[in-house]
Amino acid sequence: MLSEKLPTRGLLMMVVAPSGVGKTSLTRRLVADHSDLLLSISATTRDPRPGEHEGRDYHFVDRAEFDAMIDDNAFLEWAEVYGNRYGSPRKPIMDALERGESVLFDIDYQGAMSIHDQAPEDSVLVYILPPSLAEMSRRLHARSQDSEAVIAQRIARSKDEVEQWKTFDYVLLNEDFDKAYSDLAHIYHAERMKRARNLWIAPFVDELLKEDV
Ligand code: 5GP
Repeated sequence: MLSEKLPTRGLLMMVVAPSGVGKTSLTRRLVADHSDLLLSISATTRDPRPGEHEGRDYHFVDRAEFDAMIDDNAFLEWAEVYGNRYGSPRKPIMDALERGESVLFDIDYQGAMSIHDQAPEDSVLVYILPPSLAEMSRRLHARSQDSEAVIAQRIARSKDEVEQWKTFDYVLLNEDFDKAYSDLAHIYHAERMKRARNLWIAPFVDELLKEDV
């Protein structure tokens, strides 16, 4: 198809949600289903959790390495969350945009807003709500990755974050995974279709109007 060979401008999609809302499963599936969408793999100073892999879930670095990356301006944004540092490496993001691909970010509220401020036209902000705080707490306990104190901290922080829902372009409810996934995928597809992102339209129309019929 002609339109697929012509240039598009990629977008930066930030998906933000409280812990335990299923954000990771939703974002991983969206990336698996779309070859033109790259997941930004953050660097972090926190320890890997069981089942997490270097380079797939995060780039696990120590504090000195992280600080050296800050000094090298290697992050598009970085933030301190629950006592650990997290940052989005700049180069893979810029490379993907140059290829006309899009980038998905599984980051926190402050990181999403920072990227949005740097590239408002290219940004799409999505927030995922839990069906209830009780359900969120149940999921956090079920995954048994955090202490009681950390779970309490995560829930308190989530309440502050949920209050920011009006700053997002889209707000989804993850009550049913398949429904939430379908909503997320539709948002991605519609955003990709926006006229301003489809750089192929102008030259295509020019050629179209030259046709002698
Ligand atoms: P976790 O330790 O549960 O993997 O992540 C804690 C929080 O940090 C989550 O809200 C996660 O989305 C966020 N986070 C992960 N990577 C980044 C990043 O590169 N930048 C920012 N600002 N937040 C991040």
